[in-house]
Amino acid sequence: MLSLDGPSTSTFSLPPAVLQHKTDVRNPPRTMGQFRNKSGRQCPFYKIMPSTPFTVDAFNFGYVPNCTAYFLSHFHSDHYGGMTKEFAKPIYCSRITANLIREKIGVDSYWINEITMNQPTIIDGTELTLLDANHCPGSVLFLFRFKDGRAYLHTGDFRADPSVLGNDPILLGLREISKLYLDTTYLDPYYEFESQEATVDIAAEFAQQMVRKNPKTLICCGTYSVGKEKIFMRIAKVLNSKVAITAYKARLLKCFEWKEFDDLLTSDWNAAQVHVLPMQALNFPSLHEHLEKFKNFDSILAVTPSGWQFDRKNLSLKNIKPKVQGAVTMIGIPYSEHSSFRELEWFVRFIRPKEVIPTVNVGNPKRRKEMEKIIKSWLDPNYKAPVVKKQNLITGFLNQS
Ligand SMILES: [Zn+2]
Repeated sequence: MLSLDGPSTSTFSLPPAVLQHKTDVRNPPRTMGQFRNKSGRQCPFYKIMPSTPFTVDAFNFGYVPNCTAYFLSHFHSDHYGGMTKEFAKPIYCSRITANLIREKIGVDSYWINEITMNQPTIIDGTELTLLDANHCPGSVLFLFRFKDGRAYLHTGDFRADPSVLGNDPILLGLREISKLYLDTTYLDPYYEFESQEATVDIAAEFAQQMVRKNPKTLICCGTYSVGKEKIFMRIAKVLNSKVAITAYKARLLKCFEWKEFDDLLTSDWNAAQVHVLPMQALNFPSLHEHLEKFKNFDSILAVTPSGWQFDRKNLSLKNIKPKVQGAVTMIGIPYSEHSSFRELEWFVRFIRPKEVIPTVNVGNPKRRKEMEKIIKSWLDPNYKAPVVKKQNLITGFLNQS
């Protein structure tokens, strides 16, 4: 159960730019049907912000008792899962996420509150700021600041980027974070990978080399519904090509309101050397079938982006081997939209929270204990961060392939 008794003593005064957000719930629209708890589960504690009527990414549990504001960090199904068009309580999120909710789920706009990025906004007496999570378009970190000086930071899913978050004036100006709700997807020293930029460079370089050798090479990029757009955008740029997408994908990408898509995307599959396909279509039989449809191409390079392209012996990019079957070549690149182990270490030590609450891989008590031990060591004042040697993975990868 949530307590409605939020902190009451005021120690922060509002800067002039703070917006006072109001949700008028006096005349809600009539919704057809009822929003139900289809999972039959209770909302876990780490989705409920203590001493507030707020929850984060909690749509799979019916209406949470006493929750008056539902925050959605980004539009991935493991976060909005359970939300249906019958949902009839205030939702707070970024503009892109709001567009996606309207497009894909159809919740009445009355309930959807778009919050401007980096702009402190008052919601039910609490100051909320949305920071870029560097995860997928529209993804945010939620920073809640209470009148008594406490602050909670919820990362949703995020890829910690020291060059962005490390220079964020709002984070730098914080006195203390009482609770850090942390995306612990890769909180294991096993997970080390390159920056997104380096990985995108590899994919683009590889595509360019293939096309130079054979100009009739078609590039197929796999995507899920939202995310990993940087890969096909960069490849299209180096090849000076348009990007062909399905009508379904076009409706989703329209939600981003990105100007650069205007001249880039096309529904004419013959007019583009870069095709965006659903991830499940990136297998040899489907790709051979796809190639058959386009007489101006005689081979395919398929790029599968994933953070999970690792095994114990295959930790660096230079070890990634293209798989070839006839005219189709497939490469998997370790493009991650979650923080690596070292990035998590940097972020936790940068924020220095009083308490860290892991939000991923928490079902297994042994795993949770291990994560807590690692986090505790990071926050030890005597902790010495190991020096990580950087190597030129791009050159190594391209020379081998
Ligand atoms: Zn996600």
